[in-house]
Formats: sequence, C-alpha cells, structure tokens
Amino acid sequence: MIANNSGFVCQKCGKQVDRIKFGGSYRNHCPFCLYSKHVDTDTPGDRRNECRGLMKPIGVFTRRTGEYVLVHKCEKCGFERYNRIAGDDDFEKVAGLSTIPLRK
Ligand SMILES: [Zn+2]
Ligand SMILES: [Zn+2]
Repeated sequence: MIANNSGFVCQKCGKQVDRIKFGGSYRNHCPFCLYSKHVDTDTPGDRRNECRGLMKPIGVFTRRTGEYVLVHKCEKCGFERYNRIAGDDDFEKVAGLSTIPLRK
C-alpha cells in the first residue's frame, strides 16, 4: 500500500496486488477494494507521513477531461486525498461509489 510501482498485499482485502499494467504510472490504492494507505503528506509519493491509517474510498468525481478521480479518506485521522484511478481498477467498484461534487 505504498505509492510506487511494485506489488504489495492489500491491508484491507488481503489480495496480492501486482505491478500496475496499464493506465497509470504508479499505484497508490488497491484495484480490488480501492482502499489506499495514508503514507504521504501533501506531496503524493513522498511516504513521509507517520499515520499509516487505511484510507477508505468515499466517493468519485470526474474532471473536465473525463478522468475519474477517487476521493480517499483516512479512517485514522480523517485526511482526504484525491487519487486518479488506474486502468485496471475494478470499474464496477468505482462506479458503485457515490459521485461527489468537485470541491476545487
Ligand atoms: Zn484491497
Ligand atoms: Zn491518516
């Protein structure tokens, strides 16, 4: 559950997640349950955050470019972060999330 391009075991659903295959440059959330982990500060990929809480996908919105963006909220500290979905995310799961209005 760290923002890089190697595989990891999801701490939420326990599935082995492989390296990203298409549709994104690095993986920061599980393609099966869409959970992420709070490891970054405001800079994506820096992994300097001590929280390490699980980040729950609470909604999705689309950018004007048509790109889907997941909204993750940390279950431990409440921090929210936007993440682009990856090409191999479970799209039914993404579509099942509530659509939230763009906030910025
Ligand atoms: Zn998972
Ligand atoms: Zn947190």
